[in-house]
Amino acid sequence: MYPLMNFHTHTTYCDGENTPEELVKEAIARGFIAIGFSGHGNTPFDSRYCMSREGTEAYKKEIARLKQVYGGQIEIYCGIEADLLGQTDTEGFDYVIGSLHYLEKNGERYSIDGSLGHFKKLLAAYEGDAYTMAEDYFALLSQTVERLGADIIGHFDLISKFNENGEFFDENHPRYQAAASACLERLLKTDCIFEINTGAIARGYRTLPYPSATQIAQIAKAGNRFLLTSDCHQKENLDHSFEAVTHLSFWKDVEKTLITDTSFLKKH
Ligand SMILES: [Zn+2]
Ligand SMILES: [Zn+2]
Repeated sequence: MYPLMNFHTHTTYCDGENTPEELVKEAIARGFIAIGFSGHGNTPFDSRYCMSREGTEAYKKEIARLKQVYGGQIEIYCGIEADLLGQTDTEGFDYVIGSLHYLEKNGERYSIDGSLGHFKKLLAAYEGDAYTMAEDYFALLSQTVERLGADIIGHFDLISKFNENGEFFDENHPRYQAAASACLERLLKTDCIFEINTGAIARGYRTLPYPSATQIAQIAKAGNRFLLTSDCHQKENLDHSFEAVTHLSFWKDVEKTLITDTSFLKKH
């Protein structure tokens, strides 16, 4: 197994169940070498999951305090998960995860990362046209690095969250494949890092991580790096399925460029 670390963790400052300190203690107990926090950046149109502006300042202060208290036992980093439709100031964080959790259609914003009911509302706004929906998603996501300065791309194919059995669209359909591939091509011109994100496994939505095996192969071919994360919202899931995913067939593509230490953060 690789040295344990997770850079995609949520706390009570956004929609996580545990305080940052509880997570640090859990990570130390599990033998982690590092933990990075990635609170949801502010989305003024949906305050349910994100940090408020004041909350973001308090979050930064608390992580700085934890670095002082626990720095001798574990490396601690203060990141942010910024949404492409949000208004997050990404200055002053150790790293930025760039994600797209919403799509706009007919002047309304719809959640991609909510419940099945939320997803069905989004699809209904597209009158059931899942391929146009996916094209819009990937077109916007392709701007993640340019617009957010993201270091890490969050859950690349989140749009497939409820589609593991192909219920809503065919992920091998030429339009879906072309949209995802064009998005990757644009992102792969940068040195951005891609998550292998087990969050939807931990929450019972999927059996496989994001991104798909096809997408992983394209990323691996370009030589961009991977980071294993669990999109943790409760301390029990800090390293959910980390061992299990190493047995999946695409892991041979992942491990060539898998990040296994914290040196990727040193540029900051
Ligand atoms: Zn996310
Ligand atoms: Zn997240």
